[in-house]
Amino acid sequence: MGDYYQMWKELGMDLERHDEFLAPVPGLYEDLFINQKNRPRAMEYFDFVVSEIHGLRVEELVNEKKNGNLVVSSFCVFVPEELIIAAGGSSIGLCAGAQFPIPAAEKVLPRDLCPLVKASVGFKLEKICPYFEVSDFVVGETTCDGKKKAWELLNEYIPTYVMELPQQKTKASQKLWEAEIKRFKEYIENKSGRTIDSENLAAAIELINKKRSVLQRLYNTRKVDPAPISGKDVLLITQLAFFDKPERFIEKVTTLCEELEQRVKEGKGVVSKGTPRIMITGTPMPLPHWKIHHLIETSGGIVVCEESCTGTRYFEQQVPEEGRNLDEQLASLAQRAMGINCACFTPNNERIDDVLRLAKEYQVDGVIYYNLQFCQTYNMEYRKISKALKAEGIPVIQIESDYSDSDTGQLKTRIQAFLEMLQG
Ligand code: SF4
Ligand code: SF4
Repeated sequence: MGDYYQMWKELGMDLERHDEFLAPVPGLYEDLFINQKNRPRAMEYFDFVVSEIHGLRVEELVNEKKNGNLVVSSFCVFVPEELIIAAGGSSIGLCAGAQFPIPAAEKVLPRDLCPLVKASVGFKLEKICPYFEVSDFVVGETTCDGKKKAWELLNEYIPTYVMELPQQKTKASQKLWEAEIKRFKEYIENKSGRTIDSENLAAAIELINKKRSVLQRLYNTRKVDPAPISGKDVLLITQLAFFDKPERFIEKVTTLCEELEQRVKEGKGVVSKGTPRIMITGTPMPLPHWKIHHLIETSGGIVVCEESCTGTRYFEQQVPEEGRNLDEQLASLAQRAMGINCACFTPNNERIDDVLRLAKEYQVDGVIYYNLQFCQTYNMEYRKISKALKAEGIPVIQIESDYSDSDTGQLKTRIQAFLEMLQG
């Protein structure tokens, strides 16, 4: 990575803590990613992005700000990034997948709270995330209780705008979300001094739909046996989709897809045919949370699909592009959200349909239901999902974990036993 100390200092970061946080990353990345066998050549770009994760992209954002453009961060796939882009801004999905900032967060938050929420707040308290520091404001949402209350606290450190997400998928809920989207549009217009019109919004919708399409294309290559790319690499790409400049990301993932589609034609995979194919379903895995994929893929399995917000829930729903005027376009943005089957909805039976459909599409041998510790909504949905999977004869286990390494040995034993069972 280049020398960005001056930029980090100007952003007001805690340089000492930041050094401590970043120090293990290159070694960890080498072990987990670079050392994988038979990686696609086009992964080079994503390796470069990680090597510059707090450098080059942040510098781009600093320059965007100098040019008078907004930088807005969020934590949930419901937040319509299209509106931010339509106003000439940059949208960042903040990662909250590291253990490092959690002790700081536990000084101000209860310990028995989801690690994602604790890490979100912890990164800000520690001043070790340049994306937080470069952001004009943060957008929260009323999805789960932990997040809802965390925004009040976060607002003491950075302006935090909250969108009220309905908890049901009725017509009235969609209307409420549409009204929230309109309110958010006005907020962005005020903050940026730019008008969001039908033309710039159409361009933004088209761009972000393209980003989702290219992710779908990438995931499609995993539907064959043998899979041409590891689950760990795809997880990384999906995580980076929340950070990278959309146009560049689309171009680089397209290049990767071309390579993978060629591999598929040649029957070439990263593992041999017949390797147990695993789908992960459950809570998101934000950067740099790679633990579960790594355990599965170093225990003789391959992850071929993630039914999560760092997976299919991010890209399967497109925004309809037929909207003829601004009102119709805003309604289309609201419509998309009602198709994202997050456990914060009640009822949420469509998620069962998604999991069963994806298990078939990706030729899955078994499902690992992944739950971040203290996430009650996803934990409680296990009952219905596992019942439906078992009725279809698809083996499933539930794993609850956090971002620490304290349970690695125990998880490895359970995952190995599950994979052995799948191999009969
Ligand atoms: S799991 Fe739900 S609350 Fe969390 S990012 Fe996904 S949609 Fe948002
Ligand atoms: S994983 Fe669960 S508890 Fe954690 S932020 Fe997402 S919905 Fe909330």
